[in-house]
Amino acid sequence: MMELTSYLKNNDLLKTENFIGGDWRGAPDKLVVTDPASGAVLAEIADGSAADAEQAVAAAHAAFPEWSRKTAGERAAVLKRWYQRIVDNREDLARLLTLEQGKPLAEALGEIDYGASYIEWFAEECRRAYGQTIPTHNPAMRLSTIRQPVGVVTCITPWNFPNAMITRKAAPALAAGCTVVIKPAAETPLSALALCALAEQAGLPVGTINVVAGSDAAGIGRVLTQDPRVAKFTFTGSTPVGKLLMQQCASTVKKMSMELGGNAPFIVFEDADIDEAVSACMATKMRNAGQTCVSTNRIYVHASVDKLQAQMAALKSGHGLEGGTTLGPLIFRRAVDRVHGLVEEAVACGAKLQMGGDFLPQGENFYAPTLLTNMHDEMRIAREEIFGPLAVVQSFRDEDEVIARANNTSFGLAAYVMSENIRRANRVVEALEFGMVACNAGVFSTAVAPFGGIKESGIGREGGVEGMAEFYETKYCCHGV
Ligand code: ADP
Repeated sequence: MMELTSYLKNNDLLKTENFIGGDWRGAPDKLVVTDPASGAVLAEIADGSAADAEQAVAAAHAAFPEWSRKTAGERAAVLKRWYQRIVDNREDLARLLTLEQGKPLAEALGEIDYGASYIEWFAEECRRAYGQTIPTHNPAMRLSTIRQPVGVVTCITPWNFPNAMITRKAAPALAAGCTVVIKPAAETPLSALALCALAEQAGLPVGTINVVAGSDAAGIGRVLTQDPRVAKFTFTGSTPVGKLLMQQCASTVKKMSMELGGNAPFIVFEDADIDEAVSACMATKMRNAGQTCVSTNRIYVHASVDKLQAQMAALKSGHGLEGGTTLGPLIFRRAVDRVHGLVEEAVACGAKLQMGGDFLPQGENFYAPTLLTNMHDEMRIAREEIFGPLAVVQSFRDEDEVIARANNTSFGLAAYVMSENIRRANRVVEALEFGMVACNAGVFSTAVAPFGGIKESGIGREGGVEGMAEFYETKYCCHGV
């Protein structure tokens, strides 16, 4: 086992037990956490169970009355202390994230800052949970609304953003006055537990935040989606798992937020600034080795892709903690084999392999930056979420055609448009059937704006005033006078 403590300045961040009702709780079985770049064992942590999840829900339920009755200002003060502790420990948190997830350290630092920004923003925003007074329909009645926290919130989060996908859910929930139970992905529990250690230090009351990491995702998931004490379930992950969890939530009519898969088109019109388009495409395609839900999946261009190929060739694969690394490993071997299978199938169907298409010597989870042209919409690679460092290029003739092709997917998360023509840009942004459209921009997600998808990409929004609203009920109050 690697000596993880030698990588950290603050060893209090290294937790190997689950956090339930204010206690760090062991378990008879162990969950092994490995470094996807080297295969080294990083830690063995308590393998939480469905029974642990039930206890965590009970703890969150018991903590709810007191936490929800605090003033918004009191909750904001605790959340700001949590935010500050994350900022103070950002380098350690980033190293831990790189070690268990694989992304280059610069990207991990970006994720920590991005993740923390949600805590700061929602701590501020909860002070503005205004209700309304409504002009009455009846002189003998006075009408108003108040906003109240929904109750216990359960969260299941993925491995691609082990820090930020937690803060995006937990921060607005806690700010609104809800209490939370989090199940992180089994591949990346250390970031979740470190966040909890800092929440404990910041003074979040016992039971307000609980983490149950474990290999029994289905068993833990059933508790988090079906326990009647849970008011709301929020999930980030794949569409098939999201659909299953929605069905489970139906049994008790839980509120739900779902951040599911995407299939983002990246459209480069002939009037685009090509250098800017290439930079934006690289950022959306190669960040996190292509393992983000807003990753570019289908690139539509008129022009040659020489400049994109040159930038892809300049990527440096390696361990995320090594200086200069710009492309880390994929999360596990299964993901590498899947991506390779997509490439082989596309080539067999007539796609042209411009570069890459093979494994890399750095380790079994590394895959070469790969560029395919001569693609068409019917290929599996164009219809499925790629989740790898694989850029797939198609050509198009005109605006109407490319909009129709871009929209021809069951997904509706993010889309990208590059054009210097303001009229066209406006038309296309409005016509694209996606929850988020970036025009002449690559990385767009921020705490202050609503992130989320339409169609089979999800329900609800994270971030912005919309992200806050997800955790309140609006109560209509009618007073006879
Ligand atoms: P990804 O492709 O990002 O791994 P998944 O949807 O498989 O997407 O995983 C996202 C999260 O969902 C992880 O925390 C994983 O453990 C969890 N998960 C996977 N399957 C289930 C399930 N049947 N019930 C509950 N949670 C699940």
